[in-house]
Amino acid sequence: MAVNKEVFLSLQQELQPHGAALIAVSKLKPASDILELYDLDHRDFGENYVQELANKYQELPKDIRWHFIGHLQSNKVKYIAPFVYLIHGVDSLKLLQEIDKQGRKSNRIIDVLLQVHIAREETKFGLSEEELLDVWRSLSAAPLANTCLRGLMGMASFTEDAGKIQFEFAHLQSLFHRMQKAELAGSRVDTLSMGMSADYKLALQAASTTIRIGSMLFGPRG
Ligand SMILES: *Cc1c(COP(=O)(O)O)cnc(C)c1O
Repeated sequence: MAVNKEVFLSLQQELQPHGAALIAVSKLKPASDILELYDLDHRDFGENYVQELANKYQELPKDIRWHFIGHLQSNKVKYIAPFVYLIHGVDSLKLLQEIDKQGRKSNRIIDVLLQVHIAREETKFGLSEEELLDVWRSLSAAPLANTCLRGLMGMASFTEDAGKIQFEFAHLQSLFHRMQKAELAGSRVDTLSMGMSADYKLALQAASTTIRIGSMLFGPRG
C-alpha cells in the first residue's frame, strides 16, 4: 500500500491556518512509504517500536526527524538516544531519568513530552494529573541537564462521542497551558501533541500544536 499523497497535501493545507505540525506515523510501514513523503519534503515521522525505529534510522536519510510515540521501556532508551528527535510518551520520572542519563552519554539534550492519561474509558498509558504534578515538582527541585521538557502528549478515548473527545482534549490543553505559565527551569514548553486520524479535527479545535497521523496517510496497518 502506497502513500495517499492527495490526503497528505490537503492535510498540510488544513494545518496551515492552525500553525500545527504533522507527524506521519509510519509504524509497521516499509521504508519505501517513508521515502515517498520524504520526496515531498516531509521530515517528521513517528514510530512506536524501538527495534523498528533503529533499523529505519540506519536505512533512511539522516535528516529525518524521528519521533518516538510508543510506550518506551527504560532498558531500551539507549538504542534511540543517539538520534531521536522527540520522545512523546514519557510516563514516569524513572524513564525521564534514564533518558537524561542516555542523553548525557550521547552528549545531547533530548527533547521529551510527558504523556497524560486523558481517556476516561480505556486503560491507555500515561500519567494521571496527580502524577504529572509530582514529576513536575521533582523537576523543579532537581532539573535534568540532558533532557528538555517540551510539553504534553495525550490520546483521547476511542469513541464516536465527539463531546467526550472534546472534553478530554480541552482538559489536556488546560494542563498544557498551566505548564506554559509555570516556566519551569530547563523547559521550553511549546508542544501539545494530540490528535490522530480519527480525531485530529477536534484536536486542532482544542489548540493542538502537533498531530500524529498514520492510517489516513499510509492506509490501515497489518
Ligand atoms: C499509531 C499511533 C498514531 C496514529 O494512529 P492513526 O489512527 O493511524 O492515525 C498516533 N499516535 C500514537 C501514539 C499511535 O500509537
